[in-house]
Amino acid sequence: MTASERYSRQISLPGFGTSGQEKLRNSSVLLVGVGGLGSPLALYLAAAGIGRLGIMDDDRVSLSNLQRQVLFDSADQGMPKVEVAKRRLNALNPEVEVITYFERLRLENAEARAAGYDLLIGATDNFESRVLLNDIAVRSGKPFVHGSISEFEGQVSVFYAAEGPCYRCLYPEPKAAINQGAPLGVLGALPGIVGSVQALEAVKWLVRGSFRDSILEPLIGKLWLIDGTTMDTRTLILRPRAGCRCRSQV
Ligand SMILES: [Zn+2]
Repeated sequence: MTASERYSRQISLPGFGTSGQEKLRNSSVLLVGVGGLGSPLALYLAAAGIGRLGIMDDDRVSLSNLQRQVLFDSADQGMPKVEVAKRRLNALNPEVEVITYFERLRLENAEARAAGYDLLIGATDNFESRVLLNDIAVRSGKPFVHGSISEFEGQVSVFYAAEGPCYRCLYPEPKAAINQGAPLGVLGALPGIVGSVQALEAVKWLVRGSFRDSILEPLIGKLWLIDGTTMDTRTLILRPRAGCRCRSQV
């Protein structure tokens, strides 16, 4: 009874029920990046009762993180983010198995790390790791929940090559490191919004088939954009790009 009480407010959603909760409990997610986007993501995924949550980040908590990375406290400075996150997430929901990877996503480790997870989430601040995650997702036939921010703008999409385009369809040319100097500014609430949208998309994906299909429309083939200066949001239709490598692998 305790377990269902914890999740009672989502179980009572029309169509979600105990079968939706069971789906979450049997699901696994790899979250790459435990920063501004990753903080709300990890918190909402753990709170929702994801069965297994892998978190990957090679960074340590610094003072300038605390303005937006709500997983961490002042006393956590200098600690590996994944370690602090695991402690916090376990305290929030001991039913979730949290696995930590205190390392950066690289070509050499990406495939091995992603193996065994149902869904991949990119919550990093760099193009390279998004492309890496995308390629692993395409090769392994898994969905990739993408989110990013740039100053006042944020975007989210779900890339799933079996049903829509991939990240390379959207960005065919490798983006050069645009910002080699000081990090771009950000107001902490924006990654909070964007990371929360990613968490919602991840949960929607994982309970697919539990809800009546007509209710849930994941952002597959769509790019959700938010402009924090005006709060205008737009959803663009994305189509697979002819010649993209994802087309030959599905
Ligand atoms: Zn593609």
